[in-house]
Amino acid sequence: MIENEQPVIANSLWSATANPVVPCPELQSDVSADVAIVGAGFTGLSAALHLAQMGRSVAVLEAQTPGWGASGRNGGQVNPGLIEAPNDAIASFGPEMGQRMIRLSGQAGQLVFDLIAQHQIQCDARPVGWLRAANNPRGLRSLEQKAEQWAQHGADLQLLSRPDVEQALGTNAYIGGLIDPRGGNLHPLNYALGLCDAARAAGVRIYGQSKVEKLERRGPEHLLVTKRGQLRAGRVLLCTNGYSGPLHRGLQRSVVPIRSVQVATEPLSDELRSHILPGLHAPSDTRRLLSYFRMDAEGRFVMGARGGYSVQATRARLAQARAWSIKLFPQLAKVRWEFEWGGDIAATADHYPHLHDFENGMAAGLGYNGRGVAMATAMGKVLADWASGTPHADLDFPVTPLRKIPFHPFYPLGVEARVSYYKLLDRFGL
Ligand SMILES: Cc1cc2nc3c(=O)[nH]c(=O)nc-3n(C[C@H](O)[C@H](O)[C@H](O)COP(=O)(O)OP(=O)(O)OC[C@H]3O[C@@H](n4cnc5c(N)ncnc54)[C@H](O)[C@@H]3O)c2cc1C
Repeated sequence: MIENEQPVIANSLWSATANPVVPCPELQSDVSADVAIVGAGFTGLSAALHLAQMGRSVAVLEAQTPGWGASGRNGGQVNPGLIEAPNDAIASFGPEMGQRMIRLSGQAGQLVFDLIAQHQIQCDARPVGWLRAANNPRGLRSLEQKAEQWAQHGADLQLLSRPDVEQALGTNAYIGGLIDPRGGNLHPLNYALGLCDAARAAGVRIYGQSKVEKLERRGPEHLLVTKRGQLRAGRVLLCTNGYSGPLHRGLQRSVVPIRSVQVATEPLSDELRSHILPGLHAPSDTRRLLSYFRMDAEGRFVMGARGGYSVQATRARLAQARAWSIKLFPQLAKVRWEFEWGGDIAATADHYPHLHDFENGMAAGLGYNGRGVAMATAMGKVLADWASGTPHADLDFPVTPLRKIPFHPFYPLGVEARVSYYKLLDRFGL
């Protein structure tokens, strides 16, 4: 179970199958570091590890336990690239920065697999590529456009015919697809716990149950206050993503937390496993309200989809995820469903991740729009470069001003309205 979480989204497969860990102690004294990091998900842990490798002293403060947020709950898809097509990044950020973003995001999957190999992280990593399956002609066109644009930037994504997709996935529900060989899938919580171990081995101090309640500037330093201790540091990285609270109101209001939920079966028989996802891919479909699905290492089928904010809406979406699984794979009708859980994705208004420099020795990286396994790992590296003094012009991701999303306190209403609209468009393949 995910501790200190709403029961309706707490019964997580990843928590139930997590590797044993040495717990991170609570901060109970006054300590100091070159760099303080708030949040121990992929962003904060990757930043911490990269900074320690650069010789900086680093302390991470996590409100719960490492990997507690989205990093320990997600679908485990290692998906390279940004949501927007490569040429859109160039149009929005100019040729030089656009190219850097394309390179960084395109190589982000390889960064994940390299870290896993380098630190021998046991997280069922499968570099089998990231497969996207088209539900309709509109989806297929968008995949064709992505393949074409990535080819212009030196990446060889392969378009798949209808029979190719059927053979890879074991369902004939899709009309075609695209595979990005730079991606794959993994056990997300065990990846986060492995990054945590690697960072600790490199000398990073990581404190659990240490929510930062107050953040103040004291002369040249920042003071981060928790319930029982405090940390002084010259630089601070805010890595709180969809779990950004009132600690920094502007940051909290710059992203919308979108709930995503998953369900998982009991381990399937060998017979079922030979027909369902035989290539062990973790595909996403191309609907606006997309579904993503996979197998875990013990052969449990996992389906993920858009969640709701109330308990009632969440239950309904969990039931829909099970129903959709059975529609794709009727063989699942008789299996037992063992897990159901969820978490919050941080969505941004422009669909790009954001890197902010508050010009006072503090920076933040967040807003991966549901694509953070690879991209948050890469952003952690960029934040490490920033914290060690790399100027903005030399960073691999653009520093942008913080923009609050209008009417932020009412986001659940806005999100639900958009979900209804998207559902309609998806139904008609528009
Ligand atoms: C259900 C779900 C499925 C997803 N599927 C995929 C997928 O398949 N592939 C993919 O690439 N991405 C996926 N994502 C997105 C991905 O998980 C995230 O983008 C990524 O984990 C973000 O990492 P992070 O470190 O920035 O944030 P998080 O992992 O959310 O970590 C933020 C941490 O900050 C801590 N925190 C907050 N406030 C404080 C404070 N005041 N003091 C101390 N600590 C604090 C929180 O406790 C939390 O642990 C999914 C997300 C969800 C929720």
